Amino acid sequence: MIPARAWAAPSATAPLAPWSFERRDVGANDVRIDIRYCGVCHSDLHFARSEWGEAPYPAVPGHEIVGHVAAVGSSVSDLKVGDIVGVGCLVDSCRTCPSCAANQENYCDVGSTGTYMGVEKETGRPTYGGYSNTIVVDRHFVLRIPEGVDLSTTAPLLCAGITTYSPLRHWNCAPGMRVGVVGLGGLGHMAVKLAKAMGAEVTMFTTSPSKTADAARLGATRVVISKDEDAMTAAANSLDLILDTVAAPHNLDPFLNTLYRDGTLVTLGAPAEPHPQHHPFSLIMRRRAIAGSLIGGIAETQEMLDFCAEHKIGADVEVVKMADINTAWERMLRSDVKYRFVIDMSTI
Ligand code: NAP
Ligand code: ZN
Ligand code: ZN
Repeated sequence: MIPARAWAAPSATAPLAPWSFERRDVGANDVRIDIRYCGVCHSDLHFARSEWGEAPYPAVPGHEIVGHVAAVGSSVSDLKVGDIVGVGCLVDSCRTCPSCAANQENYCDVGSTGTYMGVEKETGRPTYGGYSNTIVVDRHFVLRIPEGVDLSTTAPLLCAGITTYSPLRHWNCAPGMRVGVVGLGGLGHMAVKLAKAMGAEVTMFTTSPSKTADAARLGATRVVISKDEDAMTAAANSLDLILDTVAAPHNLDPFLNTLYRDGTLVTLGAPAEPHPQHHPFSLIMRRRAIAGSLIGGIAETQEMLDFCAEHKIGADVEVVKMADINTAWERMLRSDVKYRFVIDMSTI
């Protein structure tokens, strides 16, 4: 076993604190990665505070990982020590079901294994995430980071990037498409950048008037303060696709009403409590749809990383020390993040 250090939540209500543990030995198909940066996703907080069901404690969050290869197993021939790589939200899946065969391990029919909130099949222990100095992951779930990119701004692509890229591709985002993004946080700001790079006209819905200028800088051509009923009414029937990234329950009707005929609202935010029931007329009148989307498959994640390198897209990050993580989480809860915290793992 390999000694490892992490910051873990000891319980649902206690702050994160240093913790020492062991990673599994590097198996034939494994890669050990020394973690350089780990992004801070709102899911980390949902998980560690048991908002999605009881977490296994100590709980180590983190699934926006970039670092250097420190060791490879005997069957790994296409990565070598020193290569720069990434790990996102997945570390395992069955590899044989129809979803895995279609490169959609995120929808594995028997359930994929999360980088945290999963069970490691090799050891039977909980998986421990990226708020750690090192991690051991099967080669299949290790991404190549394109040469020359900034590692701190690339880390958030491993979750916030792929979670917004995948639905944009699935719903055929293309030049001229009118895309709305709800919530300007980690996912939201990536959604704006990616939709713009795909040629869409982007409308930002935010509850924070102070973020208006940033939304425009990131690429939105229209900013709507979603608490302003008149502004929401004025935006009726004007969009083809909405990505809703809000991390709290909220009424979907005002957003559904901004969709044109056949438009789709994709829910990405995963709060503990359900959204209030939408009114059937919000869907019926213009054949609108509500959908959901979960991160993306491994091949698509690689495609997204290459797309971002080509288009020079990274996250807007605030790099923090490991010891500042509890403050970063409190700020994230207040929507005070511009627009992703990233932990400098050399400070662990
Ligand atoms: P985040 O950085 O905290 O951003 C969420 C944004 O939502 C906030 O910045 C805020 O934007 C808005 N918001 C938050 N609370 C709100 C409230 N009470 N009412 C209205 N608006 C509110 O979070 P994130 O990391 O982007 O994650 C967003 C959600 O997506 C989380 O629930 C996370 O678990 C989920 N997620 C899902 C997937 C997936 O695969 N589907 C993947 C990753 C994350 P404004 O200030 O602009 O209003
Ligand atoms: Zn995430
Ligand atoms: Zn599968």
